[in-house]
Amino acid sequence: MGSDVMRVRLHLRQVRVLEVLAGAPSELRVKVVSAVTRPRCRCCGFKCHRVHDTRLREVRDLEVSGRRTTLVWLRRRLVCGNCGGRWLEDHPEFEGALTCRLARRLAADAQAMPIRAVARRHGVGWSTVNALVGAWSGLIAEHRRSRRCSVLLVDETSMRKRHRYVTVIVNGGTGKTLAMVEHRDSAALNGFLMSQPHRWRRSVKVVVTDGSKAYKPSIEACSPHARHVLDRFHVIRWFCAGLTAVRRDVQRRQPQGVKPAFDPQVFKTRFLLMRRHDHLNDADQARLDKLFDAHPRLETGWQALQELHGLYLADDHDGALEALDRFCDLYQTGELPEFHHIVDAIISSSDEILAFHHTGRVSNGRTENTDNLLQVMRRTAHGFTNPTNFAARGLLIT
Ligand SMILES: [Zn+2]
Repeated sequence: MGSDVMRVRLHLRQVRVLEVLAGAPSELRVKVVSAVTRPRCRCCGFKCHRVHDTRLREVRDLEVSGRRTTLVWLRRRLVCGNCGGRWLEDHPEFEGALTCRLARRLAADAQAMPIRAVARRHGVGWSTVNALVGAWSGLIAEHRRSRRCSVLLVDETSMRKRHRYVTVIVNGGTGKTLAMVEHRDSAALNGFLMSQPHRWRRSVKVVVTDGSKAYKPSIEACSPHARHVLDRFHVIRWFCAGLTAVRRDVQRRQPQGVKPAFDPQVFKTRFLLMRRHDHLNDADQARLDKLFDAHPRLETGWQALQELHGLYLADDHDGALEALDRFCDLYQTGELPEFHHIVDAIISSSDEILAFHHTGRVSNGRTENTDNLLQVMRRTAHGFTNPTNFAARGLLIT
């Protein structure tokens, strides 16, 4: 006997090792049998002991000391002494051709690695891991949707960079993803909402969406009692677009062809201009004052943006309306035609924007976190082509 021989326990409950079939450095094959001597009949529950015949079934297990381990299970077919039925036994530690602990490890690894890497690491097939991840994420989604949800967050993300979008639906209370459905239109959200029980839909009081108007009809149709709120972050991005248009106009140098084409002093302040006035320090303010002395139109645009920020900084609905009035006064001077699109957007979505003050100041912040995690997953997998696989892995990690 070699000097490095030792006994190793499998640590599988109710499994008895019969013999080691192969103990090579790269692979371990162990013949096992169930330790349950009198399993109950599936039909009548009678305890059976008569074995009709046996079959061999290969079950993959976790590696033992770095060796790929296969259990050769001597699976019994029993005959019931009461009803006479014959049936193949099952084992609580085995799930199909994998042990339960290996299945759990595969699902855990799939949270950090692409399916292909997990399959290679454990020496199992890609489709085995993919099917397992799909089944596991289905259970997770079902469990999450069994709880009621009062705030629903809806956002979109892409399977490839700016290609093929999916709608991500998150529970605002827990921050957990409930579903990821293909496309980013009304039908996508409609399909999800209509597949939920009526009682669950009734529990949704607030739906927060990004700036897309596509989701509005489905919220009105499927959850008419829910309050629709446009996400603050997306709306502020619209607001900032107005000032950016003013800056681009101001920084342009004439005549055409002169180098540099833009005034560098104005261009360098592009991020500073987007900041809220209460986030500026004295040095920033001094820099802006100097800029505004040279370009008064930029100051008017900046003030208009700050009044729009006031919509959200206000304590309540009335305060928001006052900020909006001040913005309208600035806009009516006619100096800011660049804000024309923002005014249109505010008019068309005023209810959804001002609903912010009636719904506890909810936002889509949690979906942005989800989106970050999904983007990392997308990068490590080098993009996805199948929306079902994207959703399955996405649900595991978010
Ligand atoms: Zn029976």
